[in-house]
Amino acid sequence: SAKSKEGGNYDIALRNTEQGVVTRFPPEPSGYLHIGHAKAALLNDYFAHDKYNGTLLLRFDDTNPSKEKEEFQDAIVEDLKLMGIKPNKMTYTSDYFDELFDYCVRMISEGNAYADDTDKETMSAQRFDGIPSKRRDLSPEESLAHFQEMKQGTTEGLRWCIRAKISPDDKNKALRDPVIYRCNPTPHHRTGTKWKIYPTYDFACPAVDSMEGVTHALRTIEYRDRNPQYQWMLDTLKLRTVQVWDFARMNFVRTLLSKRKLTKLVDSGFVWGWDDPRFPTIRGIRRRGMTIPALREFILKQGPSKAVTNFSWDLIWNTNKKYIDPVSPRHTAIMTKGMVKATITGAPAAYTEEKPKHAKNAAVGMKTVAFSGSIVMEQEDAKLFKQDEEITLMSWGNAIVRKITTDDAGAVTHLEFELHLEGDFKKTEKKVTWLSTEGQELVPVELVDFDHLLTKDSLDENDNLEDFLNPHTEFREDAVADGNVANLKEGDIIQFERKGFYRLDRAYAPGSPAVFFNIPTGKLK
Ligand code: ATP
Ligand code: MG
Ligand code: MG
Repeated sequence: SAKSKEGGNYDIALRNTEQGVVTRFPPEPSGYLHIGHAKAALLNDYFAHDKYNGTLLLRFDDTNPSKEKEEFQDAIVEDLKLMGIKPNKMTYTSDYFDELFDYCVRMISEGNAYADDTDKETMSAQRFDGIPSKRRDLSPEESLAHFQEMKQGTTEGLRWCIRAKISPDDKNKALRDPVIYRCNPTPHHRTGTKWKIYPTYDFACPAVDSMEGVTHALRTIEYRDRNPQYQWMLDTLKLRTVQVWDFARMNFVRTLLSKRKLTKLVDSGFVWGWDDPRFPTIRGIRRRGMTIPALREFILKQGPSKAVTNFSWDLIWNTNKKYIDPVSPRHTAIMTKGMVKATITGAPAAYTEEKPKHAKNAAVGMKTVAFSGSIVMEQEDAKLFKQDEEITLMSWGNAIVRKITTDDAGAVTHLEFELHLEGDFKKTEKKVTWLSTEGQELVPVELVDFDHLLTKDSLDENDNLEDFLNPHTEFREDAVADGNVANLKEGDIIQFERKGFYRLDRAYAPGSPAVFFNIPTGKLK
C-alpha cells in the first residue's frame, strides 16, 4: 500500500505497470470543476505521481464548441493547482482534429463507418429496438461524399452524422452503431472556423488516449457498457491498446453534480456564481472552508471501491474538521441581537494580556485579550443566570451574579457581577464567552450559515429541478468579535469559541463588517 501525501494509507494499485504509467484527466471545458471531477483528477494524479513514477496528462476534451469556453479552461487549470495537482503536460483533443479526421475517413473507406441522416428520435428508437438504419449499407464512396458535405458545414451537411458500423442489435446498446462525428458550424474556442465537424467523445477518447501514450484510462463505472466500444475503436483503427480502469462515480446528497444543471443555477442567478459556498464546485467547497488535504483524504480513502455512493456531506466535513481543529486560532464573538452589557465590581482598570490563540497548540501563536469591568455577553447565557450564582468567564475566572435586570418580556438587559477569581472553575456549571468593551476595539462581524440547495436527497430522472430548489439557504446574523479579528485575512479559518469553525470570506474594513462563513463539521451518528 502506498503512502499518501497526508500520511494516510490507501491501497490502490493498477495492473500491468511494468512499461510505465501514463494517466490522463480529460475534462470538458464546459464548466468549473466539481467535487466529482476532483475524484477523477485526484485518482489520476495519485497513480501517476504518488503510487508510480509516471506521467499525468491534462487533456481538455474540447469537441463541442457549443458548450466550451476559454474561461472554463482557465478555471480548470487553476482549480487543479489549488488541489496540488501538477499535470506533466496539457493537451487538447482539438490538437488531434487532423488525425481524427483521417481516422474517420479510414473507417468509412474500410467499411467500418457510414454516413446517416436519420433524425434524432428515429435513431434513438431504432437503436432501442435493434433496427438497422436505412443508411447502414451506403457505399464508402457515398458516405465519404456526405462526410465532405459535413466538413463544409453546408445545410445538407448539417443533416448528417457519421456512425461506427458495429452492430444494429448487440445486447450491449453501446455497440449499436454509436455516432462518431457530428457537424456543428459554431466557431471553436481554439480552432476557430477551421472545422465544422467534431468527433464525439466515444470516438476521440480511445484514439487520443492511444496516440498520447496513455497506459491506463480511468473511467467512471457507468461507462462500463461502453468499454467494448472503446476497445472496438482501438482494434478497428489498429491502435495501441489502453487499459481501462473503472472507478465509482461520487455523488453527494442535496446537491447537483452536473455541469449543465450547475450552469443553469449560475445563469438564473439562483447562486452568486461558480464559487458560491453552497455549490459543490472545488471553489465553492473551498470558500465554505474545505481544506485540500481533507478532500484528498476523503476521496483517496474510497480507493477502488466500485459502489456508487450518494454520500452525505457529514463524512467529508468531519474529515475536514480533523485538519482544521488542531490549527485554527480561537476567537470570541457575541451575537448583537439581545447582547447584554455587564459591569464587574472588583475588576481592575482595563488592561490586556497576550494569550495563546489555541490552548493545545502553541505554534498557532498569541492574541491580545482585553480585561475590564465592562463586558458584553450573549442573551442565551444571561437568561439562564440565577441570582448569586457563581459562573465562569472563560479565559478569565469566576464571577458571582449579583444583579439581573430584565425588561417586560423577560429578556436580560443588564447584569452586575462580583469578580471571584479565587473560585474554582471546575465547580461552576456555566462557562460563558464574553468580550471587554474597554481596552480593545470590538470588530463588527457577520456570521453566515448555509443550507443545502435542494430539498430532496437526490433528484430522480423525471424530477423538475425547480420544484426541489430550497428557497431559503442563506442565514446571516450580526455579532461583534474580539479586536484581533480585525487583522484576519480573507481565507483564514478560525473557531469562534462555542460557536463553531468559520472561514473569513471578506476581511474587516472600517465601515464594513468582516464576513464569516460557518464551516460544517458533520454530525456523525
Ligand atoms: P458533468 O456531468 O458534470 O458535465 P462530465 O463527466 O460530463 O460531468 P467531464 O468534464 O467530461 O464532465 O469529466 C471529466 C472527468 O471527471 C471524467 O473522467 C468523468 O468521468 C469524471 N467525473 C465527472 N463526474 C464525476 C463524479 N460525480 N464522480 C467521479 N468522477 C466524475
Ligand atoms: Mg463528459
Ligand atoms: Mg456529463
